[in-house]
Amino acid sequence: MGDWFFAPEFVALGVLIVLLFYMRGSYSVAIRHTRMFCTVLWISVGCISSNILSTSSIVHSNLVPLWLNDLFQMLYFFTTPFMAASIVTYILLQVQDEFRNKQIFKWLFTIYGVTIVSYLAVAATNPFTHVMYWFDEDLLYVRGPLNFLTMGLSLFYIFSGILGCLILWKYISPQLRRVLKWFPLLVLALLTVQVIFPNVQMSGTAAMFCCLVSYLNFQSSKLTTDSLTLCGNRLVFINSLDYYMRYKQALTIIAINIRQFKRINEELGTYSGDMVLRNIGEMLRNLPYQCEAFRIGGDKFALIWQPTRSGSATDVERYLVERFENPWTVDGVEINLEADLVSLMCPQIASKPDEILSFLEYALALPPENSGEDHIPAPVEVRICDASLRSKMHRREDVVSLLRKALLTSGFSYVYQPIMDIDGRKIEAAECLIRMNDPRTGAPIPPSEFIPYAETAGLIPQIGMKVFENTCKFIHHCEEKGISAPPISVNFSTRQFYNESMVDHVMTLLKRWNVAPDKIKIEVTEGTFIANYFRVESVMSRLIDNGLGFYLDDFGSGYASFSRMMSLPFECIKFDQSILSNSQSQRRMHEMLGYLVEGFAHLGTRVVVEGVETAEQIAYLKALNVRSVQGFYYARPLSEETFCASLAATQANGDLWKETDSLA
Ligand code: C2E
Ligand code: MG
Ligand code: MG
Repeated sequence: MGDWFFAPEFVALGVLIVLLFYMRGSYSVAIRHTRMFCTVLWISVGCISSNILSTSSIVHSNLVPLWLNDLFQMLYFFTTPFMAASIVTYILLQVQDEFRNKQIFKWLFTIYGVTIVSYLAVAATNPFTHVMYWFDEDLLYVRGPLNFLTMGLSLFYIFSGILGCLILWKYISPQLRRVLKWFPLLVLALLTVQVIFPNVQMSGTAAMFCCLVSYLNFQSSKLTTDSLTLCGNRLVFINSLDYYMRYKQALTIIAINIRQFKRINEELGTYSGDMVLRNIGEMLRNLPYQCEAFRIGGDKFALIWQPTRSGSATDVERYLVERFENPWTVDGVEINLEADLVSLMCPQIASKPDEILSFLEYALALPPENSGEDHIPAPVEVRICDASLRSKMHRREDVVSLLRKALLTSGFSYVYQPIMDIDGRKIEAAECLIRMNDPRTGAPIPPSEFIPYAETAGLIPQIGMKVFENTCKFIHHCEEKGISAPPISVNFSTRQFYNESMVDHVMTLLKRWNVAPDKIKIEVTEGTFIANYFRVESVMSRLIDNGLGFYLDDFGSGYASFSRMMSLPFECIKFDQSILSNSQSQRRMHEMLGYLVEGFAHLGTRVVVEGVETAEQIAYLKALNVRSVQGFYYARPLSEETFCASLAATQANGDLWKETDSLA
């Protein structure tokens, strides 16, 4: 083709087409960057093709009809500055994502838009003005006075892009810097080749290299970086642990959990929530101590600190505690965050990546310890993963596996604790309580220990249904023997209300054991309503519509909204044991209890006080007009046989409570 050497352009075209083929389908992907990159590829392919066509038709102008030659030239003039502008815009968009002040980009993109539109207007009118080029009588190509605009504008875009990146250099992430550092080298290499071989067409090659380098780097960083916070992602965290542990390198992991992050999203909106995470990521990436920063979950981060690096792990912890004790600014609004920090030394405490991860997850999920007089947890809590915490974690794993076995082998037992009138003469109701023993030692495991584990392990819906069915069976067997059972309550946990089929299951069991729905009451605590009030309330209404009743358990120990609790149709309010003990020692609480009892009586809602252990407490409650109590003073939780026998004895005793041994 005359003096021009096109081979690199063909290679560039080939590479870009392969890349386009590889990216096929990505245009429909709803990711701005991917779409933008596809557009850059299409523009580059169009530009290189038109460059090859236009130059070859200039060289062979005698063979190509003038109109076609004109068309190729126009195509070339239209596409060339577009190619440079699109590549630069693509790179600037990556920078923009990391730089808060969007104004500068608005200006830049406006300038690009205005210049390209003006240029297109000049190019489009060329057939009349001949300012870019024209063909003389011998069909030879002649440059017009504004011919330089095409290359000039392309160079303007490239240099303004480079200048923009240099100005914002300190705000650009290390990954992006790594990409950008390649570009001057590329430009230099290509210019050198161009100077040595002036007849070699290089613009397409330059574009191809730019596309390849940026694409490969962005793709590979996407695999390792969390795009929101620019910290390493969970996969890299696990790989790093794997690497460090394989080479037995000592390190301290500091994991961070942002408490109640869901609430921040709900109250401030997810955009601000993202901004909070971004700020945290930025802070962790720029610590005054050398650490590796990762985002290991939605609101969870981790730092890896090695003893060879600056400061000490304690310094890092102290820095983080201080940072979290101070407010964060999100979109001009100051907010306070609460966090749990977990510190784990490897390989001393844990040395296998899966062991490390489960230890971190366990420690992060622990509820914050209540501290201070008001039982309000400290805004930041540091938990050290040591041998004692590890044994607690193993205990939990052990108990969860016992729970799974118990579910398969009917390894639970059930006891019934009567709810008595204040004189202890009549049994008004009873509560079914679950029991489990360690089958290896026979030692009891208290429900206060295994119920929370069952909740976090997702076993509570199955366990809850076992308790419910057992209660139905118990009432059925009593009635078969002609013994009338009082209403019996069962405790339900929050998760049971999220189980779609729960209501149907409850109704099936009632039918199967021929138990009237009003014989069973469901006890829920205030906490049940906190996570999703409307969900729980709607399931509650469905159960009430089916004839079941509800008791509010442990009243006074939770944090739910008082007005919401009072608007729910509870048949009975069970006052937590702590209310009784506090009201005996505090005058204000004493008065409050009196008013509450009176108020509920006025509303026709029954009140039961839990945990009554002494005659003195009975006398105290009597004076406050409390009518019903549950506690060790009148009756401890009784085995099924004892309770059944006691009910029979009570019936024979003219309905006056008579506790008896099952063998009696
Ligand atoms: P809860 O529902 O408030 O049950 C009352 C707890 O108070 C029972 O403890 C009972 O033994 C205890 N108690 C009763 N009277 C006295 C007393 O005079 N003094 C003292 N100190 N304690 C008394 P338990 O059986 O250990 O159960 C503890 C908690 O475990 C229950 O509190 C309930 O929240 C949960 N739980 C028990 N069974 C189940 C169940 O089947 N399902 C669910 N989800 N939770 C259950
Ligand atoms: Mg209860
Ligand atoms: Mg209770």
